[in-house]
Amino acid sequence: MASIFGHGLVAYTTSKLIDSKSSQLLLVLAIGSAIVPDLDVLAFKFGISYSHPFGHRGFTHSILFAILWSVLLSFLFGKNRKLIFAIVLFLSTLSHGVLDAMTSGGRGVGFFIPFENSRYFFPFRGIKVSPIGMEKFFSEWGISVLLSELKYIGIPCFLILITLHFAKKSKL
Ligand SMILES: [Zn+2]
Repeated sequence: MASIFGHGLVAYTTSKLIDSKSSQLLLVLAIGSAIVPDLDVLAFKFGISYSHPFGHRGFTHSILFAILWSVLLSFLFGKNRKLIFAIVLFLSTLSHGVLDAMTSGGRGVGFFIPFENSRYFFPFRGIKVSPIGMEKFFSEWGISVLLSELKYIGIPCFLILITLHFAKKSKL
């Protein structure tokens, strides 16, 4: 994974960009959805290997999972805005795998599980992979992860949010 900060920021930006009504609930669900795929690290505890379809960066990082998850949440919480909820949550969930596929370590992402079990990286892999577990994160490794995320995730998101902010202001 990238860190939870990187994943959360992309979801935050996605929600701000698409949801013109700025629903707080949708914002929280989007950030949660961008983090949820990494619950699959629990697979290691059950002895499921990394390369298994249900291993880390497997099914929960796939396009199918993003579809199922976003449809489920939009039906549970979307009320009369199900389509917007589904779009924001789909993109937020999928953004997790997309960021992971741009990280420098681990195995690739199983975007097409269960149809095809290959793992993928994008040609660009500038984001430093985040350590699994908190103790390791608060170390030098954690700092270099955050610096690479600041550059490749933080600055682009910040530019989008600032532009959005001024675009909204100029409409008032
Ligand atoms: Zn991940």
